[in-house]
Amino acid sequence: MAPIFDLVGVGFGPANLSLCIALHESEEARTKGFSMVFLEKQPQFAWHRTLLLPGTQLQVSPMKDLVTMRDPTSYFSFTNFLHVHGRLPAYINRSESVPSRREWSAYLAWAARSMEQYARYGTTVLDIEPVKGSDGKVAYNRVIARDASGNTHSYLARNVCVAVGGQANIPESLTSVIDAPRVIHSAQFLTQMKTLEPILRAKKSLRLAVLGAGQSSAEMLVYLLDRFPEAQIDMIFRASALVPSDDTPFVNSAAFDPASSQRFWELPLKLRRQHVVEFKHTNYSVVRADLIAQIYEAAYEERVELDGETSECRICIQPNTLVLNSEESGDQIVLHTRPVHVAEPVSNTFDAVFLGTGFVRDAYRMPFVDSLRSHFSLLSADGVQRLRESEEAFDNSGDAVADPEAERGRTRGITRDYFLVPDEPDAWNTTSETISSVPKEATENVEAPAETRDRVVSPRILVLGCNESTHGISDSLLSVAAHRAGIIKSSLLARTPE
Ligand SMILES: Cc1cc2nc3c(=O)[nH]c(=O)nc-3n(C[C@H](O)[C@H](O)[C@H](O)COP(=O)(O)OP(=O)(O)OC[C@H]3O[C@@H](n4cnc5c(N)ncnc54)[C@H](O)[C@@H]3O)c2cc1C
Repeated sequence: MAPIFDLVGVGFGPANLSLCIALHESEEARTKGFSMVFLEKQPQFAWHRTLLLPGTQLQVSPMKDLVTMRDPTSYFSFTNFLHVHGRLPAYINRSESVPSRREWSAYLAWAARSMEQYARYGTTVLDIEPVKGSDGKVAYNRVIARDASGNTHSYLARNVCVAVGGQANIPESLTSVIDAPRVIHSAQFLTQMKTLEPILRAKKSLRLAVLGAGQSSAEMLVYLLDRFPEAQIDMIFRASALVPSDDTPFVNSAAFDPASSQRFWELPLKLRRQHVVEFKHTNYSVVRADLIAQIYEAAYEERVELDGETSECRICIQPNTLVLNSEESGDQIVLHTRPVHVAEPVSNTFDAVFLGTGFVRDAYRMPFVDSLRSHFSLLSADGVQRLRESEEAFDNSGDAVADPEAERGRTRGITRDYFLVPDEPDAWNTTSETISSVPKEATENVEAPAETRDRVVSPRILVLGCNESTHGISDSLLSVAAHRAGIIKSSLLARTPE
């Protein structure tokens, strides 16, 4: 029998970890001998370790953990993690309603350790190739990955579930300096600060810039204020003010409840776009209110004159400011900026620049989908554009269809249960192909499941965390992870024969 996995996961962050647990806990998956493996490029499980700063907190209820919204009785709940570690009463006695990000990371890592048998760490996925069988149809997917020693391995898969998070967003005005060691995106903050911090400490006078008005910018600012008490720090952003993130109950319910994901999915494109704009302040360019208060207080304190002496302000908040361009000048960075209401640009020199400019999360930007691009519209920029136009045209036509769900999948390029819809569905609908017909040479250098079964199953690709426009603003967040894992688990098992 040829070695083939029922599921290969790409990335082992909370999204795929949650799915792994859902399948691990499933009696049906056990009965069916469902085999799976998750490939993760980091050497061990780690949740956004590069921004794991002291004092930072989880921004969501801890009940939105890996399992509770799917199965509150699961062993892998945050509550049980506290119980197992003897901290449940102590946690309940806290006045805070959310755990620190440190404790949340420990929880996720604890759950991941129990799933270790399914994980391959230090394994970076390079490509996903659809492989045709003798009937000319795609028979399975080959996931090609490089291990920590640089060796390449193949993992043959019926289903591939891609959940790789976002990629650092670098605004055009900063691309010229992004490779400079003194320019750090929040995605690399602590890693790169290990090298940069001693260099900055050696300087007598320091001027630092933090760009952006979101949570990451605010957190980096507070960290820098603490580490460099003598530095002047400019916080530069386009918005008029630091705005608090909205996590009030009605907003949470409308944006993040499982039922709201379903409602969002059923909306036409125009209303989905409005919904994303309406709820942007739950997640984008917003900061927790307590952190805003902390920064304001620090800036205010700077202005208080002690013994009649005024000092230079260390915290220089620059709202309504655009960064036009940037360049390196010796070991410094020059930012050319302009207040939105002024024509004249201003140039300032900084010893380091920190970008809290967010992430991009489009499926077509994933670096390892080249071989899949020609099969799925959602995996190319042009294809996405075509899909949007076709959905808009369909919405405007007002035509009634026999199967609205199939129509939604066709016009959006993805189904409600997160399966990419192939441009030519027939080419992916294996009928006669059995897995044992995988050619022998295709099984060399292949990582195999412990047990494998012959199955006739049409191969599929799923993508998670990059579907905000179709599945709602919660798609990249923790809120939906457990519930979504339940949906996908059921779909995967439904298409896995006994
Ligand atoms: C600092 C920070 C704090 C956050 N806090 C919150 C919060 O409080 N609440 C909330 O709801 N959301 C929060 N988020 C949003 C975040 O997206 C989710 O918390 C969650 O991490 C999403 O899980 P994920 O598995 O989709 O993506 P990720 O957690 O990003 O995991 C993706 C994984 O894929 C791996 N990977 C990437 N490329 C490859 C490859 N080619 N091969 C193999 N592996 C690969 C990565 O190493 C990573 O481990 C935060 C984000 C950041 C950056």
